[in-house]
Amino acid sequence: MPGPVAHMAVGLSSYILFKREQDRSRKDSFRLIITCLALSILPDFDFIPGIIANDVNKFHHGISHTLVSSVFIGELSFLILLKIELNINKYRLMVSCLCASVSHPLLDYFSADYSLPYGVPLFWPLSADYYTSPVSLFGSIEKGGKDFTSFVCSLINWNNLRSLAVELFFVLIILSVVIGIRKWQKG
Ligand SMILES: [Zn+2]
Repeated sequence: MPGPVAHMAVGLSSYILFKREQDRSRKDSFRLIITCLALSILPDFDFIPGIIANDVNKFHHGISHTLVSSVFIGELSFLILLKIELNINKYRLMVSCLCASVSHPLLDYFSADYSLPYGVPLFWPLSADYYTSPVSLFGSIEKGGKDFTSFVCSLINWNNLRSLAVELFFVLIILSVVIGIRKWQKG
């Protein structure tokens, strides 16, 4: 799985790609940016019940990492934003929320995964199988330990530092491409 930095870069891209000049309210834009960033990392909060159960990985890569739950959470966030009447076109609002949300399991799919269960259950409930891309964009994150402290300690190693470097390079590329597309659209 990629770390939060890569996920949030794609979340931010979901906002930048669909932002338009008529979305003038800074406050509303800020609210949408925060929503997109939160949606892009939300599935990894499945570590929390594992921390409580003293088995950090117990619930990781479960239902939170499926396309159906991502679409549901993205749509729910859109409806909440709609309710508080952001001054942003509702279709752009919906697409930004959905892209940010769905991006998470897709990025995890394109990531090397050497710990059980391998990959993500993308198509649950249609299929309970776990999927992982034959081509990995991101290195694996070595993690272990049952309790929170040993889990955090297990994250500090050279492999994860290398994975982080790859991730930062990805962030640079994705943000450059997205900003380039926006400049090109503006002419
Ligand atoms: Zn994840």
